[in-house]
Amino acid sequence: MKWLPLLQRSNNVKFIIFGGGQVAQRKVQTLIKFTTEITVVSPKLNEQLSKLIAKHGLSYIKSIALQQHVVVDHRIVAATDSIEVNQQIAAWSKALACEVSIADDSANSDFIFPAIIDRNPVTIAISSSSQSPALTRYLRNQLDAALPARIPQLAEFVASLRKTIRKTIASTQRRQQIWRSLMSSPMPNLVLAGKVDQASKVSQQVMSGQAIKGEVFLVGAGPGDPELLTLKAVRLIQQADVVFYDRLVSPAILEYCSSQAEMHYVGKAMSDHSVPQEGINQLLVDHAKLGKTVLRLKGGDPFIFGRGGEEIEQLAEENIPFQVVPGVTAASGCSSYSGIPLTHRDYAQSVRFVTGHLKDGSANLPWHELIHPQQTLVVYMGLSGITHISEELIAHGMSQDTPIALIEKGTLPEQKVYVSTLKGIAALIQNQQISAPTLTIIGDVVKLHNKLKW
Ligand code: SAH
Repeated sequence: MKWLPLLQRSNNVKFIIFGGGQVAQRKVQTLIKFTTEITVVSPKLNEQLSKLIAKHGLSYIKSIALQQHVVVDHRIVAATDSIEVNQQIAAWSKALACEVSIADDSANSDFIFPAIIDRNPVTIAISSSSQSPALTRYLRNQLDAALPARIPQLAEFVASLRKTIRKTIASTQRRQQIWRSLMSSPMPNLVLAGKVDQASKVSQQVMSGQAIKGEVFLVGAGPGDPELLTLKAVRLIQQADVVFYDRLVSPAILEYCSSQAEMHYVGKAMSDHSVPQEGINQLLVDHAKLGKTVLRLKGGDPFIFGRGGEEIEQLAEENIPFQVVPGVTAASGCSSYSGIPLTHRDYAQSVRFVTGHLKDGSANLPWHELIHPQQTLVVYMGLSGITHISEELIAHGMSQDTPIALIEKGTLPEQKVYVSTLKGIAALIQNQQISAPTLTIIGDVVKLHNKLKW
């Protein structure tokens, strides 16, 4: 490898930057986080660079590049817009044994600048050995988005644990064992979730050799399109040892699970409860007690018609650490992807989510409350009962011309949108092969579909 990535102590490095344009400005912007020992040499400065110099009290020499500006014991950055001038600066630098970095000329540079992800004290530097700055920036942005914000807190927590472990445990081998257990325990995730007290408790248990309970992530997988997963969902999905997933979780989302993870389907079609709810609650508890990292992956948002509340009750009772990650609920996903805003100043000031499937199989809804001017109704799980629901709405006073949309497999490539009216919906359902999952939106906002579909 041609480039050695080392971390250099920043309090004794001094830089001289030649150039007053964007390239010089970017270098100053990077360096300013580490040192103010920066001198800029240029006859002109762009506005931002000029501001940076004033704000941080940097030295500025208003001049074209001259040999006298290169000073021993400094690192030199040649970032003028002239290749010849940059080469001249490099020659002066080499004559004084100053290390030099030349913009767009890594072959003759002594050092180059990586892209940096800053989670102080954790620093990630990325370089493509100057071959592709665009790729480096892309990777930096991807990694930056994927890395949790609380890494600094985790670093601090681990540093303080390290002191304790050094003091209390003499054997190096035992220390290594403890670190392995700590880093695969719920501790890191607890700190990243801001639960430092719980993290301390778990760490104490690990250090005293107690069996550690695993943790459970109850994660909303959204309505189908994997790109609607939250960053946190992706991060936790990737960590799971055991996964319990529903029918509504799309196969593309399961791809994010580790290839080592044990996968269990516990989904249910309405009439076929493959694993009863109590069974699922118990499975989560049992696997967590084995010390596993358990992922309960549910379609949409776990707390919206998802029975997510029931699934974590027992975990709470048994003191098993858990986290709940919200997902994009079907109403939001289907609304956006069908171009039917749920509220709109001209059509609806409120929106109501109801389930069309009740415990005894009928839809016994508070009909009078549903008939409200300027209110959008969203019916989850209502496909089989939608004709009945429409009749009841009409019987209770809703106009039979109220528009209604059925969104089948919303947000997925197979998404289909059917639009009708309350009185027309029965015929539509009879004539079309509509399959689950389907979400129903009722109200004047549906009129916007034609204009806003995309
Ligand atoms: N917790 C889920 C809802 C579970 S209830 C959420 O927040 O979205 C299941 C119902 O959600 C389905 O019967 C259907 O009405 C709706 N649904 C879920 N995903 C859907 C999708 N991709 N397209 C249309 N409807 C969907």
